Formats: sequence, C-alpha cells, structure tokens
Amino acid sequence: MSKINILDYTKDELSQKIKPSFRAKQIYEWIYKQYVNSFDEMKNIPKDLKKELNEKYNLMPLKIATVEESRDGSKKYLFVLDDGLTMESVLLPMKKEQHDKEGNLKHHTRYTICISSQVGCKIGCSFCLTGKSGFFRNLTTSEITSQVLMIKKDNGIAQNRRVNIVFMGMGEPLDNLENVQKAVKIFSDPSGLAIGPRRQTISTSGLSSQIKKLAKMDLGVLLAISLHAVDDVLREELMPINKAYNIESIINAVKEFPIDARKRVMFEYLVIKDLNDDLKSAKKLVKLLNGIKAKVNLIFFNPHIGSDYQRPETKDVLAFQDYLLKHGVLCTIRESKGLDISAACGQLKDRKEKNEHN
Ligand code: SAH
Ligand code: SF4
Repeated sequence: MSKINILDYTKDELSQKIKPSFRAKQIYEWIYKQYVNSFDEMKNIPKDLKKELNEKYNLMPLKIATVEESRDGSKKYLFVLDDGLTMESVLLPMKKEQHDKEGNLKHHTRYTICISSQVGCKIGCSFCLTGKSGFFRNLTTSEITSQVLMIKKDNGIAQNRRVNIVFMGMGEPLDNLENVQKAVKIFSDPSGLAIGPRRQTISTSGLSSQIKKLAKMDLGVLLAISLHAVDDVLREELMPINKAYNIESIINAVKEFPIDARKRVMFEYLVIKDLNDDLKSAKKLVKLLNGIKAKVNLIFFNPHIGSDYQRPETKDVLAFQDYLLKHGVLCTIRESKGLDISAACGQLKDRKEKNEHN
C-alpha cells in the first residue's frame, strides 16, 4: 500500500484518523510550528503512535532542487516532486520602515511567498512561459502547503512571523479548486501555519464559473484577476480562455464576490509595449472597474526567448498609472523583483531544463 502524505489532511481530518484525537493537534504543531523533518522528532508523541505514523504516512512531499537568490533579496525555489516533475515558488522579502512608540525608526521585513498550484497550466496564455510548457498535473494539497513550510524552514523564518501567500506561481489555482481550498484551510489553522485567509490571495485568469464557486465557499481569501486587456479581441489573443469567459462575465462574477470591507479585488494588468500601454486602454479600464472596490497592479511584461512581445517604456507605465490615480482608481506598479533570476514564474524552470538539455 502506498503511503499517504500526512500534510494532505486538515486538522479535523487528522483527528478522525488518529486516536486519541488530541494527538492530531500536537502532530500538527510539530510539523507546522517546530518544522520537524521526521515523526521520530515528535517528542511528546508515544512510541507506538510514532511507529504507526511511520508506517502509514510520508511527511515531506518536496525536495529543493535549486535556489537562486536575486540581488534584491528575492529567492526562487525549484522543487522536485515524488514523480520527478518540478515546479517553483518565490520568496519575496519586503523591507519596511516604521516608527515605534518612542518615535524611533525601525526596520522590519515582511515576507510574501508566491506559490504554484499546478505543474504547467492548461490556460495557455501567449505571454506566459508556464502556459507554453503545457499542462502536466494538479498539485496535491500537501505539495501546495509544503512550498510555504519548506521556504519558512529553509530561511529560518520563525513560526510566528507574519507571512503573506499569493497563488501566483505556476498554474491556474481555480482549475485545481478542491486542493487549493484545502490548502487555504490548512494554511489558516491556528495550530498550523496560522496564516489567516486575508493574508492569502488567489490569482486567476478569470474562470468566471469557478470564481462563483470560490465565492460560495466563503473562505475569506483575497481575489486577484489577471485582466491584462480591456477589450475582448486583445484579451482573446493574450488569453485564449477569454473565448469561454469574456471580460463582462468576469466583471459580473467579481461584483458578486464577497470582499472584506477593508479590502479590494486586485486587477493585474500586464503592460506590453504598443499593445495595451496607451491611455485609451487606461480610460476603458476606469470605466470597466466603475462600481467595484478595485486596486490595479501594473506589471511590466518581462520578455523571454521566443516571445514577440516587448517590455513597455517606464514613462508609458507611469502615465497609465497617473491616469488611473487621477480618475479615482487605486493603482500600484509591481516592482520587478528578482529580474536577474528571471522574474516571471515559469522562467527558472524553463532555463534549468534548457541547460540540462545543452
Ligand atoms: N494562473 C493564474 C496565477 C498566476 S500566473 C493567473 O494567471 O492569474 C503567474 C503570474 O505571472 C501572472 O500574474 C502573470 O501575469 C505573470 N506573468 C506571466 N508571464 C509573465 C511575463 N512574461 N512577464 C511578467 N509577468 C508574467
Ligand atoms: Fe496559466 Fe496564469 Fe500562465 Fe495564463 S498566466 S498560462 S493562466 S499560469
């Protein structure tokens, strides 16, 4: 009988399997708070139960293949799965300055971890390397959660340090909704990683019917829509999924999505030179987002080999942002984090495979 990975279980599920059930919480804390590498390290767990755990379950579904650190501090992890496939995650440390009660300036680091939900992707966006590589399989729940666990462990990030999670790595999270839903619950568990749902953002290419399903689940997660274009013709060229779910259907699904009063839906807009970087597009975007508590995130297209698209001019991106801000739409520009280690997800994996074949 092949072993099950214990990280596939929520705490409630584990308490059904383990007797007495209070042990489930202890096991959870050893895994997610003490970062143990084996069941044998779980000191307060009786010998017999340890034996049972060793017989029935695996603990670590991923191995780190490579880590690349960028000059700006972001780190890209390439993970190998049990079947030999690979996928990646990125750790993005953001330095913040804050005044303490005495008025002294303090520096502290906030961490965001960008994780994958699938190996490859079915959606096939024309600008995305992951999309070009095709689809291999969904990640299991444990393969999703252990990206965060392993990165926290590898960087010595204390269990109680706040971390944000974004599902913006490889794959379309709403195309693997069951496993993603479970991962969100496991991340949120106070006996586990204790990362509240409002610190988790699910980014989607806009599968409207799945957005509605996610809304019904009422997980409390934040939503990001990869919009990238304001008219259906261009969006279809960039994202073939737009034939099935056009812009209007996405906007309607977003309008029904439950959002925390203090939060917003994020619209990601990949800016590509001479395609969608003009003020006419900015004007249309303002109109489209009318009535939605939205925040736009402009992303510089990051060129890669084999792509005809080009990186936009900084002045055009700034003018685009300026237009949105002047018309009452919150808008940020995504820093080109980790450009020297290949910024957009899908690129590290791609480069490694090319090197191996050379
Ligand atoms: N499939 C989901 C989840 C994240 S996709 C979605 O599309 O929303 C990975 C992210 O990388 C998306 O935000 C996408 O816009 C971005 N991306 C893909 N290719 C890129 C490129 N060449 N340059 C910059 N960002 C890119
Ligand atoms: Fe898939 Fe997102 Fe890449 Fe599109 S941008 S191919 S949806 S991973």
